[in-house]
Amino acid sequence: MLLLFFKENIFNMPNLFENISAESKIFLDRNIMLPSYMPERLPFREKQIQALVNTLSVCFRGNKPDNIFLYGKPGTGKTCTAKYVLKQLEEYVQQKELRGIKIFYMNCRHYNSKYKVLSKIVQHLYPEKEFIGYSGTFIYENLLNYCRSENCILIACLDEIDKVKDVDELVYALTRANDELSNSGISLIGISNQITFKDRLDSRTKSSLCEKEIVFPPYNANELKAILNDRIRLAFKPGVVDSSAVNLAAAIAAQESGDAREALLLLLRAADLADKEGLSKVTDNEVKRAKEEVEEEIVLDMLASLPEQQQIVLYAIATLTRDRRGIKRLSENSEPLLYSGEVYDEYCKIALKIGKEAVTTRWFQEYINELETYGILLTTSSGKGFRGQSRLIKLGFDPEKIKKVLEKKLFS
Ligand code: ADP
Ligand code: MG
Repeated sequence: MLLLFFKENIFNMPNLFENISAESKIFLDRNIMLPSYMPERLPFREKQIQALVNTLSVCFRGNKPDNIFLYGKPGTGKTCTAKYVLKQLEEYVQQKELRGIKIFYMNCRHYNSKYKVLSKIVQHLYPEKEFIGYSGTFIYENLLNYCRSENCILIACLDEIDKVKDVDELVYALTRANDELSNSGISLIGISNQITFKDRLDSRTKSSLCEKEIVFPPYNANELKAILNDRIRLAFKPGVVDSSAVNLAAAIAAQESGDAREALLLLLRAADLADKEGLSKVTDNEVKRAKEEVEEEIVLDMLASLPEQQQIVLYAIATLTRDRRGIKRLSENSEPLLYSGEVYDEYCKIALKIGKEAVTTRWFQEYINELETYGILLTTSSGKGFRGQSRLIKLGFDPEKIKKVLEKKLFS
């Protein structure tokens, strides 16, 4: 990072770029702190790596590996673990010149339908052909043809598979393909950040996708500290990051979610502050200052990636909270809360407005539960009284900001 602020009147300077030092006092290589960086090692994920290797390695004997489902909260290392193992598998296949094994990874965030996912897979298999605008059947036939003609086992990793609207149909199509293939096959690795995603699948999809399951638990503070220290050695100049800064970033992330991405981001933003201000050290003070911005960054990013129905529920809550409608106060000066019944009514109205079918109250309650596990809202019971027993909901973040992010997603 460059030093990007001017201490004197800029028009009195001989040259605008004079005072900007190109070299950072803080970073050796800032890229190492970015989410796109793939670490050399993944401590505390040895068990999950081993489980993946064990399941996948039957492909060397010409057998189709079981489908595998990886799940756990955001930032627990699912994506990097899957990519790490698949990269090694790819290298091994090339080194040994093994034929008949094809590896594919994609994130379904931006490919949220069966058609889009299958097109993306087939495009990868036939990079020189054009598939845009072709029918689903044509694309599916090409997938089968590829496996047949190459006599290969395709290992397809679908990250954030919960984003696919018709995921039951997608999994069904990909597993049914195996009935039509004899010396070849398709294995799925599905990944989800949503703990309750499995329960939304129909029972047939669930049993085929989850032949093997691998759980990713949240990291504790000591684990996060070790992960951070591994990164710090490569990303920062020696001695620049105070151990108090590492401890605090690890403690905050462990307490909130056990999310490694949050811990890394806290330290990155703290270091950016130090860098920008020309400080020679990153201390707990910078981490404290970075905390609010990082929390917001993580929440807003997560909102944008929620399934559409949950976005509508949250949009309803943000709207009512901002307009101070449907509000109940438990006592004179306590925080305002929303009745879940009124939120449901508002949710149905919004769903209708954007042409989506509203889910039943049972699913609505499930969505509320899930949003609560993400820490976006809190719920409590009203106790007996006016309206009988009811669930009360309180939004944990600025309704304006939430509405802004969701409006882009829902109404564009
Ligand atoms: P998830 O897919 O579960 O949300 P990611 O795999 O994207 O989580 O991990 C979030 C961030 O934390 C990434 O930058 C990743 O490199 C880092 N990370 C996660 N687990 C580890 C680990 N065990 N060791 C080193 N870095 C990790
Ligand atoms: Mg991920």
